[in-house]
Amino acid sequence: MAFEGLAERLQGTLTKIRGKGKVSETDVKEMMREVRLALLEADVNFKVVKQFIASVKEKALGQEVMKSLTPGQQVIKVVNEELTALMGGEQSKIAVAPKSPTVVMMVGLQGAGKTTTTAKLANHLRKKHNRQPMLVAADIYRPAAIKQLETLGKQLNMPVFSLGDQVSPVEIAKQAIEKAKEDHHDYVLIDTAGRLHIDETLMDELKQVKEIAKPDEILLVVDAMTGQDAVNVAESFNEQLDVTGVVLTKLDGDTRGGAAISVKAVTNTPIKFAGMGEKIDQLEPFHPDRMASRILG
Ligand code: GDP
Repeated sequence: MAFEGLAERLQGTLTKIRGKGKVSETDVKEMMREVRLALLEADVNFKVVKQFIASVKEKALGQEVMKSLTPGQQVIKVVNEELTALMGGEQSKIAVAPKSPTVVMMVGLQGAGKTTTTAKLANHLRKKHNRQPMLVAADIYRPAAIKQLETLGKQLNMPVFSLGDQVSPVEIAKQAIEKAKEDHHDYVLIDTAGRLHIDETLMDELKQVKEIAKPDEILLVVDAMTGQDAVNVAESFNEQLDVTGVVLTKLDGDTRGGAAISVKAVTNTPIKFAGMGEKIDQLEPFHPDRMASRILG
């Protein structure tokens, strides 16, 4: 499970202060030094850590009662609130277009889990929101991506729009949206192509698809296991495409968790979902408050 190391360290640090009836400035400083190290070790972006520590210190020390008699619990509450805020505060929900269908473009690097996440999201929308999504196979470059989406569609008993791998993704997107309107689908999920690295050709093509599809939501799928790289990838995609949300995959692995904590702060793009396993139902809405509590115990 993600965050195990971080959770263990933070909980160890916080335990020392939890029982205290009085918390001095020195106690807070000492604790924050340990929290800082724990976050850095968990691969949280250093600028993010710096900001976080500064704001916790300010809030914890700024509290009137703190100066004299303050239970350690109060400091922990501040840490929890700040960690929640750092990861996005309120839960960010998936877009709903005023007029159906809502178009969602799925983007990301190859291997991040984009195709799997497209199917997982379709399943989530039907199960939890009673929607009728249509999947679109527009990843024409990765061998087997189309087949993979079709197989997942079959498994879900959900239509997959495909024109093979000889038609441009722009044309596929265009025709798919027309078809979705005809068939009264309320969500269109477009699985676009990824590459091993970000390159201009990939971005140009995604921009063209964006232009045609006019998505209500562009979800960037990033692999949480890649740590700071995930944050860098998010920054680049966001600069080029104005991403509206992030899906962090593989949070079930033993990732140190830095990506989950830094993505929102660095890119100002909310994490909307978390992938918690390979199975089709292992996608969860991302709740910053629950994640913070999970980390802090
Ligand atoms: P794409 O190239 O981005 O379309 O990636 P795929 O959807 O093919 O996924 C790549 C691999 O990651 C596959 O083996 C998926 O089963 C796996 N995967 C995707 N999401 C998750 C997740 O949340 N947890 C785990 N453990 N594996 C995942």
